Amino acid sequence: MTYAQGLHHVTAVAADPQRNVDFYTRVLGLRLVKKTVNQDDPFTYHLYYGDALGRPGTAMTFFPFPGVPAGQPGRGQPIETQFSVPLNTLTEWESRLRAAAVEISAGPSNGQADRLQFTDPDGLPLALIAEAPEAGDLESEPAIRGFAGLTLASHRPDSTARMLTELLGYAPVTSSGATLRFKSQGSVRADHIELIESPMMGRPGYGTVHHIAFRVPNRSALLEMLERVQAARLPCSGEVDRFYFRSVYFREPGGMLFEIATDDPGFTVDEPVESLGQTLKLTAEHEPMRAAIETSLPALEYF
Ligand code: ZN
Repeated sequence: MTYAQGLHHVTAVAADPQRNVDFYTRVLGLRLVKKTVNQDDPFTYHLYYGDALGRPGTAMTFFPFPGVPAGQPGRGQPIETQFSVPLNTLTEWESRLRAAAVEISAGPSNGQADRLQFTDPDGLPLALIAEAPEAGDLESEPAIRGFAGLTLASHRPDSTARMLTELLGYAPVTSSGATLRFKSQGSVRADHIELIESPMMGRPGYGTVHHIAFRVPNRSALLEMLERVQAARLPCSGEVDRFYFRSVYFREPGGMLFEIATDDPGFTVDEPVESLGQTLKLTAEHEPMRAAIETSLPALEYF
């Protein structure tokens, strides 16, 4: 039976695209690996940040919607996106974030040994988690390797837990207090999920996660997962071609939008690794509108 292999990408809402690029490239050191548009709203950017190779499981993506109201992270949403960093680098990261005037809520300097918690300029909650290296990690210290995992705040934690275990193949691991913990069985990275009950009601807007995507290797695995989503009678998109991957979206019972996405063909399908992210990429459907799209989008400066 095919199951999800950890996270494929996390997509959040941002207010200003330039501020978003500055934070994720200059402060967090990620690479802008794809500059494209929202396929359902081609006059807004869809920005993808990842590791140097733009591999699946490392993609943090944003819809910068101009004029969107501020959101409130809380119940019905993923409420913390966690990145993996090498062991013994959190103190260095804390200094780097403080130097960039990032608001830090917990870290080594106040007794939190294993994670550094902070928000991006839009208020999106993030954490860096110190983890031992795994085979295949790019170890250019103290760089972010990709995702470590997520914390979800479900309206119905028991139902979300069943989604994670029965549909996506996550296994429960030791829980502490009210936090339920799960681990993807088919992945060594981007494999942790924490599920909590949050007293705070979530509200969509900038600074919140829009949806999260789980990895499967290819289309046949995706179609197998689609059958399982349909058998569970969840509201579902059917198969969608996102050009860089194929997807199925569904609304899980705890209120969150989940996606299952394929590793292939990946971000190098329309540009080589060396020049990922340098030019605006449009699908064949939107290419005839390039001039109008380029005129309406704000220019972005990045390196
Ligand atoms: Zn997505």
